[in-house]
Amino acid sequence: MEYRRLGKSGLQLSVVSYGSWTTFHHQVDEHLADTLMGYAYDQGINFFDNAESYAGGESEKLMGRVLKQKRWERSSYVLSSKVFFGWHGKENKPNQHGLSRKHIIEACHEALQRLQVDYLDLYFCHRPDPQTPVSEVVWAMNHLLQQGKILYWGTSEWSAAQIMEAHMIAERYGLIGPTMEQPQYNLFYREKVEKEFLPLYESIGLGTTTWSPLASGLLTGKYNAGIPRDSRLGLPGYEWLKEKLLIPQNIEKVKALQRMADAYGVSLAVLAIAWCIRNPHVSTVILGASRLSQLEENMQAVQFYHQLQDEILQQIEAIVDNKPHE
Ligand code: NDP
Repeated sequence: MEYRRLGKSGLQLSVVSYGSWTTFHHQVDEHLADTLMGYAYDQGINFFDNAESYAGGESEKLMGRVLKQKRWERSSYVLSSKVFFGWHGKENKPNQHGLSRKHIIEACHEALQRLQVDYLDLYFCHRPDPQTPVSEVVWAMNHLLQQGKILYWGTSEWSAAQIMEAHMIAERYGLIGPTMEQPQYNLFYREKVEKEFLPLYESIGLGTTTWSPLASGLLTGKYNAGIPRDSRLGLPGYEWLKEKLLIPQNIEKVKALQRMADAYGVSLAVLAIAWCIRNPHVSTVILGASRLSQLEENMQAVQFYHQLQDEILQQIEAIVDNKPHE
């Protein structure tokens, strides 16, 4: 396994990690979660990603039970949660979501209970909150840092300007600013990681933990001829995702990428994940998997990315045709 520093911080993350969005509790039960996390850990994955909102808190509970059974040394893995959406879904009361100091602190306490750990290594603001001053967020996160309840804090799907604002506030008061951002990054969605955040990697040493490397599975080719019943886009409640992803020009590109992957003797999933890893600004690519065979396959990308020479990259660019302009 290869490990990369999370931006300029001293923390090292495996270049691929494992997250539980949509899968834990809905598709993955406790037995399977134990198998998947066990396999990931044995392969050298040291970061597990979670959030208060995943499966209404059940994803954290499930991961917490597995971690307890595994009895891994706490220092051997990195665990995250995220705050913003709350865990009651539509039933959230006013202070049960967002980034107020109240919700940030309470959500952290609840995540610690559900995950059955004493501290979170990474704590993300899952989205920006226009209702809360950024200074309140920075102070609340620093309060948790001082208490040792979180070790690093960061953002997810914030703009470069919002991240910079948090950084400047932290600097002004001698506080710790955001260490990392969690953006979407895959062959269809590149703008933030490859363009918008470029100045931040140098200036503040921003790390990135990127999500949906396979665009929810689209970049495996599994949706080329319809929606398999046992797949994410076939799950009830994900119609919005289906509408966003299953558009004819995406499917055409996936088919062309598939032919390319076939020619190089790898699966499209491995090619697509390797393409994410090959970006040095990516600290870790968070994988999703609803079964062991997927994780086994996707892990091959950790080796394969070394083979992504200019010629292959140019072929990929010609197909996706979406390179952000400098
Ligand atoms: P992917 O884009 O890689 O999608 C993963 C899904 O694709 C799997 O659950 C599985 O779904 C399918 N899949 C994966 N590998 C294969 C394979 N080899 N063959 C066929 N199908 C495959 O990642 P996610 O969207 O799951 O994102 C990864 C993690 O990132 C999440 O778990 C979460 O921790 C984080 N995340 C963070 C967000 C944020 O806002 N900060 C947003 C979204 C995710 P199935 O079998 O059901 O078809």
